[in-house]
Amino acid sequence: MSATKPYSFFQSVERSFDKAAKLTKWDLGILEQIKACNSVYQMRFPVKMDDGSIEVIEAYRVQHSQHKTPCKGGIRFSDEVNQDEVMALASLMTYKCAIVNVPFGGGKGGIKINPRNYSTYELEKITRRYTSELVKKNFIGPGIDVPAPDYGTGEREMSWIVDTYASLKPGEIDAAGCVTGKPITQGGVRGRKEATGLGVFFGIREVCNMEDVMKKLGLKTGVEGKTVVVQGLGNVGYHSAKFFREGGAKVIALAEYEGAIMNPNGLNEEEVFQHRKKTGSILNFPGATNLAKNTDALELECDILIPAALENVINGENAPRVKAKIIGEAANGPCTPEADEVFAQKGILCVPDMYLNAGGVTVSYFEWLKNLSHVRYGRMEKRFNENMNMKIINQMESLTGKTVGAEEKKSIAHGADEQELVHSGLEETMISATREIMELWHSNPDIPDMRTAAYVSAINKVATSYVELGIFP
Ligand code: GLU
Repeated sequence: MSATKPYSFFQSVERSFDKAAKLTKWDLGILEQIKACNSVYQMRFPVKMDDGSIEVIEAYRVQHSQHKTPCKGGIRFSDEVNQDEVMALASLMTYKCAIVNVPFGGGKGGIKINPRNYSTYELEKITRRYTSELVKKNFIGPGIDVPAPDYGTGEREMSWIVDTYASLKPGEIDAAGCVTGKPITQGGVRGRKEATGLGVFFGIREVCNMEDVMKKLGLKTGVEGKTVVVQGLGNVGYHSAKFFREGGAKVIALAEYEGAIMNPNGLNEEEVFQHRKKTGSILNFPGATNLAKNTDALELECDILIPAALENVINGENAPRVKAKIIGEAANGPCTPEADEVFAQKGILCVPDMYLNAGGVTVSYFEWLKNLSHVRYGRMEKRFNENMNMKIINQMESLTGKTVGAEEKKSIAHGADEQELVHSGLEETMISATREIMELWHSNPDIPDMRTAAYVSAINKVATSYVELGIFP
């Protein structure tokens, strides 16, 4: 696919950036600085495999911007990893963090391996060695650069990273903040795992609640009853599907790399996940129809299409066949600039990755804050709030002479726990970002689409912070 592409992923991010930059007032120097990747670390290191052979591993960490520190962004394990891709993804992180007001610069890492081809022990050795390479070059640390999960990685890899980092930095009291997306027992925060998918849901739900936007698309307001297609059943796709289903939408198709399945009556992501675990494939799921190619799912008739896998899956070639009314970019870079042109012509609303999938990094921010403050969210006030709420209810009961049911009383009075606080912080973030970008888009007739509006918002925020830093007096 990449051989026929006229430009690379990083260049496509640059194109979208340039399209938006023209609509801002910043001078060229500032724009050039924002666009550039500040530091690119390409590394090779040897790892001994289980059979005794030695493999040279290719890996990267890119720090796109230090206008705010630390840099922040995931680490992916994939065959397709290359410098250009990591640079593109690091850039998107800068813009993403700016839009949702998370005070980090953008970063991204990648190891060029297909994790399926390695044993757990081999993966552990690769991850630990990668971490020590980052430590050696000062490319990781709670105040420098903080990795997180991405495609092909999860809690397990993050716990190897924090353990390696902490053992190389004895006595560093904030060591747990060197990486996010950790298991709870290793300093993780409740609510991080589902954060990206939940953020996608909150963002799209907000769009669906906008009457004028829905009217233009010929849709009813609200998520309820809408048909949804999700590409990718990894952490992000799984949780997006889950929250849409729980929100009353119907997930009519799911796609993975081995194929796609469809059921107009709706699919349950957990049942499909279990079926895949048992049989090794999502195909032949009871009650569903198999689709010939996994990409066929992208072209199904539906209200909302959620690409939640990799970049460049909707491009100039297949975009004309997309029939969804709304595209929610849960993955990073799933639609190319050519696809954007087609969407604009066809009146398809594409809600861009740059902020829609920011739920992950938003909750990573909460996790990092938790690590630096060394206290669980809610620990200080949970009981206090509960006692206070109970007093208020009791007062109301005695003043009115009426009583609240025992269950109801418990639910009204309860003090928020960590997961509830994280979810509500995320909900607030996604709702405000959606409104902000939508308003910016609608307030300027020169802005052609929501992606450009998101870029304009990001550029304005990053440029302002450069100017405020005094870098461009
Ligand atoms: N990999 C995720 C992303 O692309 C999360 C990054 C983070 O939490 O730092 O946004």
